[in-house]
Amino acid sequence: MPSRTLFGALVRSSSSSPKFDNINSNPHSPATHHSLLPPEYYLHTPPKSRSQESLVSMEALKRHSLVPRHSDKKSPKVHPHKPAKLDMIVESPPLVMYNGPQASTGALFSGQLSLTVIDPEVKLEKFEMQLLAVVSTKRPVVPHCQDCANKTSEIHKWEFLEAPISLKMGDHYFPFSHLLPGHLPATTHGHIASIDYHLEAVAITSTGEKITYSRDLLIKRAIMPGNDKHSIRIFPPTNLTASVTLPPVIHSIGEFPVEMRLSGIITNKEQAQTRWVLRKLNWRIEETQRFTAPVCAKHATKLGGENRGVKNEDVRTVGHAEVKHGWKSDFQEGNIDVQFHASCDMALKPTCDMDSASGMDVKHNLIVEMVVAEEWAPLKKPNQATPTGSARVLRTQFHVILTERAGLGISWDEEQPPMYEDVPASPPTYMEDIDASHLSDDSDGLYHI
Ligand SMILES: [Zn+2]
Repeated sequence: MPSRTLFGALVRSSSSSPKFDNINSNPHSPATHHSLLPPEYYLHTPPKSRSQESLVSMEALKRHSLVPRHSDKKSPKVHPHKPAKLDMIVESPPLVMYNGPQASTGALFSGQLSLTVIDPEVKLEKFEMQLLAVVSTKRPVVPHCQDCANKTSEIHKWEFLEAPISLKMGDHYFPFSHLLPGHLPATTHGHIASIDYHLEAVAITSTGEKITYSRDLLIKRAIMPGNDKHSIRIFPPTNLTASVTLPPVIHSIGEFPVEMRLSGIITNKEQAQTRWVLRKLNWRIEETQRFTAPVCAKHATKLGGENRGVKNEDVRTVGHAEVKHGWKSDFQEGNIDVQFHASCDMALKPTCDMDSASGMDVKHNLIVEMVVAEEWAPLKKPNQATPTGSARVLRTQFHVILTERAGLGISWDEEQPPMYEDVPASPPTYMEDIDASHLSDDSDGLYHI
C-alpha cells in the first residue's frame, strides 16, 4: 500500500473560516451559521476556562476520550439512586444530506427527549443537549496523545430550560429540532481518520445529580445522479483516442457500466494497413484517503507552531477485474468499442467520497489499462493480419464519485408538509347557492367566484 507522510505541512489558520459552532465560539456570531465554507473545526484550541456552559462538553469529552476502558473496572460498581431517567424518540427520517456540501440544503433532525421522573418530584436546574462532532485519527502527530488524536466540536446545543423547573413523577417530553447544515461531512470511518456525531444530553437536579443520555447520530450524504459523464483521452505518440462514458455517481453495492470507444486504430497506406488490436483490458477502482492530522497545543512545538498538521495519505484498490473479451473492432471505421461493468468489492468496505475542511478527504479513480498490439494487413485481404511485434500499454484514469444511493432523493425541504404558518387560518369557503344572475352580463366575473 503506498503511504506517504509529510511533516510540517502548513494548515490554514482557524481564524480565516470558522464553521462549526466550536466550544469556544460565540453562539450569537452570525458568521458561525452563515458561512458556506466547510467546517474546519479541529483547528480550534480547547477552552481554557471550564464555565458552567461547557459542562456538557467536558462530560462528553471525557466519555469520548480513548482512555483505556478497563479503568472503569477498577472503581467499584455503584448504582446510585437516580431521581429520573432520560430517553429519546427520534421523529425525523434518517439523516441524509443530498448533494455536495455547497449545494445541500441539509438534513432536519427532530424528536423528543423523554424525562421519566421516578421520585415524587424533581427540580431541574439545567437541562441541555449537545450535538458533537468527533474527528479522530489513527495516526496522531504524537503517538498516544489523546489531544492530538481526537478533536471534539459542538455543532449545536439545545437548552431546554429558561429557569429551574419542578417536575412531578411521570413522563415529561421536551421536543427538539435542528436543521443540520448541508456542509457537515457525513459520518465517515476511514483508514486514517473518522468523523462521528454524538448527542449528549444532561439534566442537573437542584441537588446536583446528573441524569445523562447519549447516542450516536449517523449522517449520510447522497450525491444525486445527473447526466452521464463523457471524457476523452489521447495516447500520444499514437493516434489512439479513447472516449469514455461513465455514470455520474457510483455506489459501493452494484455494478456500473463503462462504455469506451477507441478511435484512430488504423493507418492506411497505399497497399496495406497497420492497426491496433486490443489484447487485454484491466480496470481497478482506487480509493485515496487523506487526512491532515492536527497537532495539539501541548505538542505544537513539534511542528514548529500551532495550526500545523501532518499530511497522511492512504491509497488502496477497492475493486478490480480483467476484461477478456466482448469488444468489437471495426477496421473500416477504425474503432474498437468496449463495454464492461465495473464494481467495488463490498468486502473491502469502500468509503464514500467526502471532502471536509476537518482535513479529511476521500476520492476515487477508475483506472483503465489496455494492452494494444500492432498488426499489418494488406488492404486487399484485411483479414490476413500479421503482428508487427509492437505493443503498448495504454493507461488512463477517471474520477468517479462513490456515494450513498439517493433512495427517493427527497430532501427535507421538499418532503416537509406545509408549516402551520403557511396554512390559511380557515378552509376556503364555498357558496352553496350561487345567484349568478348578476354575473350574466359580465363573463369575467365568473373568474372571481
Ligand atoms: Zn498532543
